[in-house]
Amino acid sequence: MSNLQVLKNRVFKLERLEAKQRAASLICTCRVETDYHDANCLESVLKAQANFACEVHGIRDLGPLVWIPDGMPLIRDDRKFCVCPPQLSQNMGGGRSETGF
Ligand SMILES: [Zn+2]
Ligand SMILES: [Zn+2]
Repeated sequence: MSNLQVLKNRVFKLERLEAKQRAASLICTCRVETDYHDANCLESVLKAQANFACEVHGIRDLGPLVWIPDGMPLIRDDRKFCVCPPQLSQNMGGGRSETGF
């Protein structure tokens, strides 16, 4: 093997290592699922999420869209995009406390 060939191989290896490290530093923000309460709520969440991209995959995969009852809060990221009127049931029932935020 010529010196040039050895040098080329070394550069190739370094480049591969660098690409690997770069990929490792990216964070995938894709979802396993996205919750919603009704059509308005879903529209608001989807609109808001369209502004975010996944560093790894480009377009963020929101996963399956899952309907949840009014009293249940959306996943933390999406709570601020929920346009539903506050539900009394959210503050009753005792078990689930959202006040210690
Ligand atoms: Zn991703
Ligand atoms: Zn909602």
